[in-house]
Amino acid sequence: MRTRWRGAALMPRPTVLSNRAEALKPSLTLAISARAKALQQDGRDICSMSAGEPDFNTPDFIVEAAIKALHDGVTRYGPAAGDPELREAIADKLTQHNNIPSTATNVLVTNGGKQAIFNLFQVLLNPGDQVLIPAPYWLSYPEMARLAGAKPVVIPSSAEEGFSLDLDALEAAITPNTRLLVINSPGNPTGRVIERSEMLAVAEIVRRYPQLLVMSDEIYEYLLEEGETHHSFAALAPDLAERTMVVNGFAKGWAMTGWRLGYLVAPPEVIKAAAALQSQSTSNVCSFAQRGALAALRGSQDCVKSMAASFNSRRRLLTQGLKALDGLTLVPPRGAFYAFPKLPDHVSSSLAFCEAALEREGLALVPGAAFGDDRCVRLSCAVSHETIEDGLSRLEPLLASQL
Ligand code: PLP
Repeated sequence: MRTRWRGAALMPRPTVLSNRAEALKPSLTLAISARAKALQQDGRDICSMSAGEPDFNTPDFIVEAAIKALHDGVTRYGPAAGDPELREAIADKLTQHNNIPSTATNVLVTNGGKQAIFNLFQVLLNPGDQVLIPAPYWLSYPEMARLAGAKPVVIPSSAEEGFSLDLDALEAAITPNTRLLVINSPGNPTGRVIERSEMLAVAEIVRRYPQLLVMSDEIYEYLLEEGETHHSFAALAPDLAERTMVVNGFAKGWAMTGWRLGYLVAPPEVIKAAAALQSQSTSNVCSFAQRGALAALRGSQDCVKSMAASFNSRRRLLTQGLKALDGLTLVPPRGAFYAFPKLPDHVSSSLAFCEAALEREGLALVPGAAFGDDRCVRLSCAVSHETIEDGLSRLEPLLASQL
């Protein structure tokens, strides 16, 4: 006890973080939103189009179900993999709605879609494995792949080509170490919906590489422009269902972002491993919140439809407004609640553009660099019609100015 520990206690101890923590990239968007808040506190009039969540409250009948569960004493630990009734209901939804035959053993209830992806990457990927991520991508995919020791391999696309997936580039990127392909439709940040023919072409490629698995992130499945259809990869390619893992959740369709409720659908051995990981890390998702999710699935879907219709009208307003501005190249979004226009050619950095937008015009946007395309910016239409119009009028002078 004498010298060694006493000596150590007297030494100033620098905090030494793990390599993992050191390698983690801080969110590019954090600096912008912190600055937007600071400006707002200083009394500046800020127009924020950076929201990544529905601007609705959770429908009442879902809230009521969770309140009832609290009163009924659903306040204890539950099974790590999720409430058995909810797992069953999710399996029914996959079977009936997505045409992916599933049972409760295929389902893990997670702390948002985010934890479904995190757990999946942890249980599937080894150091040295490669994950194919088509750009523009949701910003957490590469970081989560790195946290699992794997290497993200980005497949670029361009606004000029409608952000369509370059199938030759995709296939050329496949090596013996490629383990997982990520697809996301409707997509964040582009609002792009992958068409049936494109999904089928991707399936053809996946068939040629038996080691390759697919993660299909379908979290925006209900937010579709009229005339669009959501295609689940595993339903279009049933022979690949065993190799396809579906990520989804309640955040976007039912306006339940803060509830932290998502799910993973995968073969039972993957679910078992991900549940074991969950049992050693977070345990079950909040028990009474799961009762809210059960009500969401079992109740009327009218609320989902009416919120989706409202996003459609606001997406159209944003799309029309952006099309009318000089200097932008817009791939019209067909789903989710974002638009991802390409900036004029003279703009060399999306981050510099977003900083100028905030400082000069009080307009908060998300730089495309965060999503793997530094030539674009993301605008959200999960705001009021007035905010969209205000945002567009603040954007216009920036496009002509030298940055
Ligand atoms: N996937 C995509 C494409 C997203 O945009 C998000 C959230 O913004 C998620 C997954 C995670 O959603 P959550 O963890 O809130 O359920």
